[in-house]
Amino acid sequence: MTGTTWQGDVDRRTLPTTVRDDFPFFGSPEGTGLAYLDNAATTQKPAAVLAAVTDYYTTANSNVGRGYYRLSQTSTERFEAARETVRRAIDAEHPDEVLFTSGTTHAVNLLAATLGRRLVGPGDRMLVTGMEHNSNLLPWRRLAEQTGAELVAVPVDADGRVSADVFAAALGPRVRLAAIAHVSNVLGTVNPVREMIAQAHRHGVPVVVDGAQAVPHRQVDVRALDADFYCFSGHKVYGPMGVGVLYGRRDLLAELPPYQVGGGTVKGVSLTEPVRYLTGPPRFEAGTPDVAGAVGLAAALSYLDGLGWAGIREHDRTLVRHAVRVLGALDGVRVVGDPARDPAGIVSFVVEGIHPYDVGGQLDRHRIAARCGVHCASVFLDDLGLLGTVRLSFGVYNTLDDVDRVAEAVAGVRPGFW
Ligand code: PLP
Repeated sequence: MTGTTWQGDVDRRTLPTTVRDDFPFFGSPEGTGLAYLDNAATTQKPAAVLAAVTDYYTTANSNVGRGYYRLSQTSTERFEAARETVRRAIDAEHPDEVLFTSGTTHAVNLLAATLGRRLVGPGDRMLVTGMEHNSNLLPWRRLAEQTGAELVAVPVDADGRVSADVFAAALGPRVRLAAIAHVSNVLGTVNPVREMIAQAHRHGVPVVVDGAQAVPHRQVDVRALDADFYCFSGHKVYGPMGVGVLYGRRDLLAELPPYQVGGGTVKGVSLTEPVRYLTGPPRFEAGTPDVAGAVGLAAALSYLDGLGWAGIREHDRTLVRHAVRVLGALDGVRVVGDPARDPAGIVSFVVEGIHPYDVGGQLDRHRIAARCGVHCASVFLDDLGLLGTVRLSFGVYNTLDDVDRVAEAVAGVRPGFW
């Protein structure tokens, strides 16, 4: 089967073959003929996103929230319209529950410095899972060091997920907060976050969800999850780099102190009187925000909505299951975990006797861009007993042909430098 006609022929709910044409990168010299399979690191951008960013800078560029002239108001309106688009996309109740950050890493650092500092003291416990990306691990580790609290990693099952029961067993009177990955960036496995949040809430523990790898692959509904805080990055969901989202429930955000302070965060300042900070997003969005980024992110979410989530899910399922099948059939190749059970666009594998860097380097010679190594999750890789993996991570433009090219290339890899 090749990549030109399979989609739509196989199942009408999958994506149309024309999706790739929406992405100018694949018409560029670098993009032509490239099997781009590093979408968990960052995605290519559809023309609709590029156009939205260009249009903002061409027709509305001015600073937000500060000017009394019309152009500044237009810019503010575009920024707030982007917030509303994000609100709708994740089903938040209020737009002021959507904060723009520079990405997931910024969002988690913000929470560690505000929520964490507020809740955690000496002898307290924070839970993470054993599969966290460093961006949802190091901010909590540092907080533990600063406060004398203990950071506990809930173990991952053999199939690459955290069981809600194992998570529940780790909850106890000393636990003050939990920070958990929705989807593993290493294995593409999906944690039962709704059940985990419900268990945490039974103990009065707020939960931060790292949704960086979930939002590109499923329609996240923060209210259905009963999420307290949910973070994701724009660039992993076909939006621009440098913008991301922190969702926080309104009542919880209202209790948090500002993170960074500066322009746009205050009602009134003097040198001696107590500073009166604003409430809502301005309290947490100090300085000039990435307005064009927010506009581009909103365009990306609208683009995905236009493709339809049923098609995106089916597309993921088809690619992941095909990859597991064809890679699993190769001698010496082992797919790690069980990404086909509830596919979220990622498949990680190892080749017996060959370092992942060697595999990645040899795939590159076949014009296949796939990530290899520890994927910023060395604690998890240590736990898995692996030096690293080769990771295929799919986007809406990938095809079965891309997967077949990987299988063909992997069949020919040889031990090399590493
Ligand atoms: N969390 C997860 C699960 C990720 O996969 C990543 C990036 O790969 C991050 C957090 C960090 O995202 P960013 O670099 O966009 O802040």
